[in-house]
Amino acid sequence: MAERLLLYRAPDSLDAALVAQRLDAEGVSVLRAGVGSSVVWGLLPVERMVELWIDPEEAPRAVGILREFEAERSGGGGSWSCATCGETTPESSELCWSCVAGRS
Ligand SMILES: [Zn+2]
Repeated sequence: MAERLLLYRAPDSLDAALVAQRLDAEGVSVLRAGVGSSVVWGLLPVERMVELWIDPEEAPRAVGILREFEAERSGGGGSWSCATCGETTPESSELCWSCVAGRS
């Protein structure tokens, strides 16, 4: 398998599934990592992040799809620009997707 790029960190497996499903529907193959599927994790009240990895060549398209998805989900389609790197991130995200700086 070729090198993969981390696209998105979901707060839980449901969120990850929704985003992955959307990307898959658009033809972007997604690899999920960190899904809490083991019995041990299932028994513990541990919030576990789920990462979505993609082919770097598909990154520009994937980010566009993700932005559309977040815009639809937030209902308004608003966005904010990162003061650190200038990246535009949807209202639904409190962290910059590019440099992970907090919203100012
Ligand atoms: Zn940034």
